[in-house]
Parts: sequence; structure tokens; C-alpha cells
Amino acid sequence: MLENFEKLSIILNESYNEKSLNSSLGEFFLQNFGIDKFSLEINKKQNNEFTNFEDSLKYPIFKHKKSIGSLCFSSITPELSDFLKIASSFISLKVQNVILNDKMQKNINFHETMKNIAKIIETQYELKYVIPIIGEMIDKFFENYLLYIYLLNENTSEFYLAWPIACKDPKIIDIIGNFKDKIFTDNRKTLALPLKSEGKEVGILVAKSTDDKITEKDEDYLEQLASQIATTINRANVYAEILKHATLDALTGFYNRRQLEERIKQEVANAKRQNAPLCGIMTDIDFFKRVNDTYGHAVGDLVLKTIAKIIRGQLREYDIAGRYGGEEFSILLPFTKMSEAQMVAERLRKTIESKVIDISKVNPESETKEISVTLSLGIYEMKPDDNDEDLLKKADKALYEAKNTGRNKVVIQND
Ligand code: GH3
Ligand code: MG
Ligand code: MG
Repeated sequence: MLENFEKLSIILNESYNEKSLNSSLGEFFLQNFGIDKFSLEINKKQNNEFTNFEDSLKYPIFKHKKSIGSLCFSSITPELSDFLKIASSFISLKVQNVILNDKMQKNINFHETMKNIAKIIETQYELKYVIPIIGEMIDKFFENYLLYIYLLNENTSEFYLAWPIACKDPKIIDIIGNFKDKIFTDNRKTLALPLKSEGKEVGILVAKSTDDKITEKDEDYLEQLASQIATTINRANVYAEILKHATLDALTGFYNRRQLEERIKQEVANAKRQNAPLCGIMTDIDFFKRVNDTYGHAVGDLVLKTIAKIIRGQLREYDIAGRYGGEEFSILLPFTKMSEAQMVAERLRKTIESKVIDISKVNPESETKEISVTLSLGIYEMKPDDNDEDLLKKADKALYEAKNTGRNKVVIQND
């Protein structure tokens, strides 16, 4: 008996985690008590249901008067029973040690994860890079969770899934659709947290536990994580905003004049290098001043936005649209000959002519609720000798002619 205690004491000393403790105890009970099946079950969360081999006999181990786990045997002989009466308290101490160790390791890992996220904040700004890095990091740390990051689309005020690629869980989709604030659902197995930074909501973090109810400790981890993610996202959003204002026109989302000129240079060079056709279109809204004067500047802005949206919708992905000036838009059509450009322009003109614009929300006082506008367009196809400025200058010449010969028409410039 004494010999067995000595052996046990050595084993306990040498085991450093749950796995090694489990396997060396198994070996010990096999060698010294002929037990062929053993497992150590650590009760990490309260009221844990044991699930391992069903026909086993369980010998509980206690810390004070609370069960912290069980030693499971396929059979218990009287000799083993006597041994366990004393040995279980030693094993219990070791198990407490392992649990503590485990918790500490988790804490270390968590802070490591947080540190890594903080590092990303310092070096990465673009959401499309930031989100997958964070996603992979937290998936590694929160092994027992399915984590979802939803971001707020400021234009539609709706949340869209940013991490992972898909969420088919109808319960989670439901939470997102009705989200107001932090909420536990699914018997405390799912937690949705707002991602808030500087008082601004930027998204939602959803954590779904794949085993037990979410502990208070994990809730705390997840809250810290949510705050860190929100800061990162907010920073990326601010960055994107700065970038956008530098290159895009705030009202229409089109390239601004400066950026448009940059793109013209690139496209002209490209077309020359590849010996490919390139067309430029200049457009101007007809009698736009009248719209402003009659319905107000806000309605004028709405018309500009509407026209810009129509133009974008009519173009191919690699066509370029820019706001040249007040109500003048420019379009570059790479790899496009005059005949094709003419078709694009004509289609655009017709679409705008038939578009009915509802102005009642922007100007509720106006008796007229709906208005329409027309567009004049001038097209020019680049010739080998043309320089950067010629493309739109010559298109503008055609536009001028369109204005002078009745408006709401497409004129081509043959030079
Ligand atoms: P035409 O068809 O002959 O060009 O007539 P027009 O009224 O369009 O004449 P013009 O091009 O001179 O007037 C353009 C007007 O566009 C003048 C200006 O008040 C208005 N405008 C320019 N930028 C903006 C803008 O950002 N918002 C609004 N609401 N109006 C703008
Ligand atoms: Mg004008
Ligand atoms: Mg005009």
C-alpha cells in the first residue's frame, strides 16, 4: 500500500496538464490495481454532465465539499476503494493545480491575442485585410465558439456578415435582424455584443458556444475582445473615409475632378500602348439652373445623385465616371469604339429622359411631386496624336453643339 502511495506521488509530481495526468494515472491503475479502463474527468464548469464510458464507476474528487471531477473506473476492487479513500485527496490537489494552470494559460493566450489585435491596429487600416486577420486569431483562441463579426453598412443601416464567409444559422440571422443591444439567447449559449467605438456602433460580435453555457469569465473575455475589434474597425472606417474624400466626390461617389484627370492620363497612356480604342463622353444636365431655382438646391442635389446612379448603372465595371464640374459628368470608355460609345450614350440619354424623380421627401412643400430632367452628351474617340486634354476637350465641343441644337441629344465629334 505504502509503495503505491509513493508511486502515485511521483506520477502526480511529473504530470503537468490534464492529458498527461489522465494517461499516467491510467497506466498507474492498470499496473497496480489491474484496472483496464480509466479516465479522469475534470468538472470545469458547474453541473457538468459526464459523458465518457457509460458503464463506468465514478469516484468523485472534491475541493472543500464541492465536486471538481471524477475518477472513472471500469471496476473498483475493495483494495482500490481503500486506496482511493486517502489517494483521492492528493489527486484532488493535483487536479486543482491543473485547473488553475489551465486558467492561467488561457489568460496568457487571451492577452497574447489582444496584443496581436492591437498590433494590427497600428499597422493595418484596410478592413478587407484587418477582418480576416482578426477572425483567424479569435477563432484560434475561442476554440469552443463559433464567432461571427457583422459590420454596419452606413448607407443602408443594415448589418452584413464580414467574418466568416457565411452564416447559415437562422437563429443568428434572426438576432442580427432584431439587434438592439447586448443579448444572451439559446439558454446562455449564444451572446451577441455591440461593437462600439467612441460611442459609435460599428457592428455586432456574435459568439455561439459549441459546448456549454457561456461562463462569466468567457463573457468578460468576449466583451474585451468586442471592444478591441470595435476600435480596430472604427479606425479602418475613419481611414477609408479620409481616402474616399481625397478621391471621390462626396455627393455622387464618382471620381472628383482631380482623380478623374489622373485616370484620364492612365487610360490615354493605356490605349496608346495597347493601340486600343478609347472614347470620352461629356455630359451636362439641361436647364439645371431652373431645377435649383424652382425646387431648391436640395432637389438639385437629389437630381445630381439620381443621374449619377443611372450613369453608374449603365456602365461596365471598368468604365470610368467622374464629376467634371457642378452638373457635368465625364465618362471614359476604354476599349470602346465610337459606334459602341454612341449606343451607350443614347441608352443613357433615354434612361434619364424617362426617369421620374420623386422630390416629395426632399421638398415636401412643393406642389409638384415628381420631376424629370434631360441630358445632353458629346462624344469623342481618341486619335493617335491626341494628348490627355484633347479627349474631354473635344467631347466638350460636341456637347456644346448638342446644347446649341436643341439639348437632350447625343452629338459626336469627328475630328
Ligand atoms: P444648360 O442645359 O444650358 O446647361 O442649362 P443649365 O441650367 O444647366 O445652365 P448652367 O450649366 O449654367 O447651370 C448649372 C447650374 O448647376 C448652376 C448651379 O447652380 C448648379 N449646380 C452646380 N453644382 C451644383 C450642386 O452641387 N448642387 C446643385 N443643387 N446645383 C449645382
Ligand atoms: Mg453646365
Ligand atoms: Mg446644364
